Order: sequence, then structure tokens, then C-alpha cells
Amino acid sequence: PTGDPAVAHALPSLPYAFDALEPHIDAKTMETHSQKHHKAYVDNLNKALEGGPDLAGLPIEELLRTVKTSAPDAVKQAIINNGGGHHNHALFWEIMGPNGGGEPTGAIGDAVKEAFGDFAKLKETVKANGVGQFGSGWTWVVWNPTATKLEAVKRPNQDSPLMDGLVPVLGIDVWEHAYYLKYQNRRPSYLDAWWNVVNWKAVEAKLAAAKAGR
Ligand code: MN
Repeated sequence: PTGDPAVAHALPSLPYAFDALEPHIDAKTMETHSQKHHKAYVDNLNKALEGGPDLAGLPIEELLRTVKTSAPDAVKQAIINNGGGHHNHALFWEIMGPNGGGEPTGAIGDAVKEAFGDFAKLKETVKANGVGQFGSGWTWVVWNPTATKLEAVKRPNQDSPLMDGLVPVLGIDVWEHAYYLKYQNRRPSYLDAWWNVVNWKAVEAKLAAAKAGR
């Protein structure tokens, strides 16, 4: 059903105002990032799927899990880039929020302790991966269903960890468009400040879904 708006991928609404993450992430960055950058990934994903109509009806997670083996060569890279871009950003908006921050508690706190020792070590690892990602990409915390624990990984561009059988529960966008207006070249400062806007309840929900195989 190519081109059917009922099944096309859609830009989600932000669950908070553009200025809700101030002063850590500025309103102009949030507006441009969600309404221009994310929208372009969604539009270009839908366009790419015109060249892979069998894939057009798949949920985004299923599409990303199978894209490397199932997509026609002519549109494979476009689906990887734009499907990844869509899913990564949708997750990013969800796992941030106003009145965020603090230490992870409950199930997510336990999983962090088990995998990293403590929250300080998690932050250190996520930051090292983000700073160490040459050029554009993401620093991730993923559920590894084989190891049955959380892991920290980095990925270039918009490559989704779902393509490698990993389930993202937290990710920080380290493309310059995510931080340049406020932080310019200071990616490490942005990565430090980011933890003030993390929505642990949302991350915990991602972890629960990942563990349940949803
Ligand atoms: Mn981005």
C-alpha cells in the first residue's frame, strides 16, 4: 500500500514544549531538530519505501531488524539512514523530559548497577563513547537479549542498534545539529548536561519492553 497515508511513517508530536528542556537543550535546537531534521528522515524513509513496497507496511522496529537482509539494494542504504533516523529521534524525544535527571532507580537502577557498577560509571562510559564517535552518530545504552544485560555502544550516522540485534533503551544524539547552537564544538559539555533532561521512567519502560521482546 505504497503512498497510503494510513500506513506511511509519521512524525510524532513532541510530548513537551520546545523550551521544556531549557537551559540544558535550547528551544531553537529542539524546534529545528524535531520539525526539520526528524521530519526529513520520516519523509525520506517514506520515499525510500516506494522502492521497497513489501517493506512499507512493517513497523519501524521490524523494518530496522531486517533491513540489511530484506531490502532491495537500490533503497537499502536510504532505509538504513532514514529509518534509523526516524526511530532514533522518536526514542530520543521520549526519553527526555522536563523535570528530568537524577539517579536511575527501580528496575532501571538495578540493571545499571548490574551492567556498569554504578550510575557514575554508566555516565563515564556513555560520554567516552559519545566523545569518541568520530563525526556524526549516537552513544547508546542497549539491552542485549543474548547477554541479558545492558551494554553501552556507539554507532555512526543513524545506524540503529536494532540492525545488530540490540534494543536501544537510551541514546544521545551527537550529531552537531543536536548541540551546536548552544554548545558549539563542546560535545563533552553537552554530554554532561544531557543527564539533566533524562526521563528515567521512559527509559525504564523501554527496558521492560526490550526484556519482554516487544
Ligand atoms: Mn539528530
